[in-house]
Amino acid sequence: MKDAKLYTLQQLLNDRGWRLRFNEELERDFQLDYFRRYYVHMQIAGIVGLVVFLACGILDLIWMTEMAGRTWLIRLVAGLPMAVLLLLSFREPFKQKVGKNYMQHFICLLATSAVGGLIAISLNSIEPYNYYYYNAITVAMVIVFVLSRIQFKWGVISAVIMWLSVNIGLIGFGQAENKLAIVVIINYVFWGSSISALIGTFLIERSLRQNYLQSRLLSMENCDLEESNMTLQYLSAIDGLTQIANRRSLDRSLAIEWQRARRKREPVGFIMADIDHFKMFNDTYGHQAGDECLRVVASLIKDHARRPGDLAARYGGEEFALVLINSTAEQAGIIAEQMRKKIMETTIKYDHSVSTNITASFGVASMVPGQGQANPDALVLEADQAMYRAKRSGRNRVVVSGQPDDDRTAI
Ligand code: GH3
Ligand code: MG
Ligand code: MG
Repeated sequence: MKDAKLYTLQQLLNDRGWRLRFNEELERDFQLDYFRRYYVHMQIAGIVGLVVFLACGILDLIWMTEMAGRTWLIRLVAGLPMAVLLLLSFREPFKQKVGKNYMQHFICLLATSAVGGLIAISLNSIEPYNYYYYNAITVAMVIVFVLSRIQFKWGVISAVIMWLSVNIGLIGFGQAENKLAIVVIINYVFWGSSISALIGTFLIERSLRQNYLQSRLLSMENCDLEESNMTLQYLSAIDGLTQIANRRSLDRSLAIEWQRARRKREPVGFIMADIDHFKMFNDTYGHQAGDECLRVVASLIKDHARRPGDLAARYGGEEFALVLINSTAEQAGIIAEQMRKKIMETTIKYDHSVSTNITASFGVASMVPGQGQANPDALVLEADQAMYRAKRSGRNRVVVSGQPDDDRTAI
């Protein structure tokens, strides 16, 4: 699924066709991204357009004093939809509900109202100032095509609407004298500028689409990288056979818990467990049955790491460790005893041919960080020594460091 998506993006990016066509889902995402990035451009274009449109009215007051009343009325009528839309565009609910889906339509509407207004003003002006207003259409085009970041399709629609407004105004209501020449000249200027602007719009949209594809690809590749990083981290912390923490993460967790316990002045409990006569188990039932036995014991030990911060780990070979936070030697001893019993009661089954029971020996220690010579290595060593005492005194038992060997002898 992910590969297919990646392939589609790659294909599109390599597409040398004249237009980058996206499928429905990609187009929707692109338009959303476009809205997020360029909504503010549309607002800037609207503000600039409105200011320029109204500011030109100052010239009416200088040049065409007797017409100024009428041209200003047109200016206000044409400027009103622009101003209303602009004000609404800053309101968050409008932006999310309407602006998001109709951004391009609005630019089109603003362009139409600006050009319509300019034509109306021009028709109500006296020579030679009326030509000045026809030229002002080019200014409107720069604002619409360059500033607003309009997309190609909507650029074409805007251009056609503008062109219709220009020609309806000129041919329908324009002065009779030299009409043909004026229509030809103004159309020439109009098409010259709008075609150049539309080519620009097209090229900009194409590169926006390419950039969008590239950023999508990049973020997908980053995701892949993150996933592999996590897998690597997992692999370096987990023992492959038993799927519990390995020695490396035991050392790391113990160091972290040690610091935490030092701040809280709490004891850290540590249990070392070693399967009894495991070499014999291997020799009798085979190495694969031995592996299965290690998996079962690991899972039993893991079940006893109950609090956040507790950690069960494979210490090495057939030895396991359990770190218990805020645990005295006595409390850790009780948990070790529970584990000892559980292991003894569990039947190891493998491949229909093996069904047997095993035992394990446990060494327990606990230290309060910051007290005396306490450190993580000393804690592990103490538990290890207790475990060897458990072996020496008959196996299948728990020895708590600092207590007599037979303190928790079972069987
Ligand atoms: P004790 O009761 O004194 O602990 O005796 P033991 O036989 O358990 O101890 P010993 O250290 O002599 O043997 C440990 C055995 O564990 C030897 C080794 O082959 C086996 N072992 C270590 N790692 C693995 C493993 O990953 N899979 C299997 N199947 N066996 C392993
Ligand atoms: Mg051993
Ligand atoms: Mg052993």
